[in-house]
Amino acid sequence: MTTMIRGGTVVNADRAFRADVLCSNDKVVAIGENLDAPAGATIIDAGGQYVMPGGIDTHTHMQLPFMGTVTMDDFYTGTAAGLAGGTTTIMDFVIPDPKQSLLEAFHTWRGWAKKSAADYTFHVAVTWWDPSVHEEMGVLVREHGVNSFKHFMAYKNAIMADDETLVNSFRRALELGAIPTVHAENGELVYQLQQELLKKGITGAEAHPLSRPPEVEAEAANRAIAIANVLGTPVYIVHVSCAESLDAIARARAKGQRVYGEALAGHLVIDDSVYRHPDPEFARGHVMSPPFRSRHHQDALWQGLRGGNLHTTATDHCTFCAEQKAAGKDDFTRIPNGCGGVEERMAVIWDAGVNTGLLTPSEFVRVTSTNAAQIFNVYPRKGVVAVGADADLVVWDPNGSRTISASTQFSKGGFNVFEGRTVRGIPTHTVAAGKLVFERGELRAEAGAGRYIERPAFTPTTA
Ligand SMILES: [Zn+2]
Repeated sequence: MTTMIRGGTVVNADRAFRADVLCSNDKVVAIGENLDAPAGATIIDAGGQYVMPGGIDTHTHMQLPFMGTVTMDDFYTGTAAGLAGGTTTIMDFVIPDPKQSLLEAFHTWRGWAKKSAADYTFHVAVTWWDPSVHEEMGVLVREHGVNSFKHFMAYKNAIMADDETLVNSFRRALELGAIPTVHAENGELVYQLQQELLKKGITGAEAHPLSRPPEVEAEAANRAIAIANVLGTPVYIVHVSCAESLDAIARARAKGQRVYGEALAGHLVIDDSVYRHPDPEFARGHVMSPPFRSRHHQDALWQGLRGGNLHTTATDHCTFCAEQKAAGKDDFTRIPNGCGGVEERMAVIWDAGVNTGLLTPSEFVRVTSTNAAQIFNVYPRKGVVAVGADADLVVWDPNGSRTISASTQFSKGGFNVFEGRTVRGIPTHTVAAGKLVFERGELRAEAGAGRYIERPAFTPTTA
């Protein structure tokens, strides 16, 4: 299988240049001007367009059992939707129940993910602690290509990691050459604020952001960063949503601490007025944690991305339909938390970031693909258009536009937080592992074509 992408401008994180790109089987095999196309090659005309490394969404939840239900998108529909948006790799989460074996959960998720249409890899959550967890973290790193562990500082009485778990797990991750990641929200504060709001009779989705103010996120971000500092581990903070958390990251980085931050496409462009919308179903559709924030936080997140204190962009793709969300119609704490976005992330960030001059095209590639590949140690297999890299490519038309709607999306759930937004800058072609899987609106995703991507441990520092 040979594919030639002709006449485009290759955009990598470090530079952009005119070149043809030749793919053979699943790899890029040649890059240069006026390459000869072998007989039988599929030719993609990229004239006037950019050719970029396929997106890496560092944070998705496909087929996740959560809050008494299971997300609408499974690993096939979710990864297929990603391909339609130019995302060729997802990083999903294995979330063991407290007291469940990490390895058992890992194998369960691996089974669910077999039908993926795009490449995938897993962060594994540490939701409890005992010597068997210590042992199994080692097995996951050494034998299964896992190099990142996730910690939920929220969701008390469910999957919340207490300080004992955080400290033990961060320490073990360091020993193994893996990176700890955290969902930073103080679960005790969230729990108590929720109870207070319910007692006052504030039971709708408008209570959701009130129960999770920025300070609650900042406390946890600061605590995780402090623990990482004491132990000497790097730390990656998922879905940074507010200026206060970003400040914590910026302060730590300025002191030389290795702290990374992830921003979600939704948090970059949607504000908290959605929770006060007169239609309760619309408001519930936006319930996710951390919640959407007031405007000034969005400006801060863009500055963080441009200034280098936030590194990756993701979606926390976790779709529930209106009936599932209605489980919380009389009690906001029972609304399944989650929104979509895997299909829209690249276009939303291009439109709001590159078209406005906040990001250059190379900076766009850096925050949608390259940094993720480097931080999670799959670079240069992923995250760059280069000879020898995986042939995961997106051909991007900076002048093409479309209006996002749940009625035309590939993703399941029947709801879209970007509904009605017209974006300029869209993928025309997506190539995944050398195959043309999306062409001008037509999706040819194939269940099972995605591969599990192993991520080796980091080389220990000698310090
Ligand atoms: Zn998540």
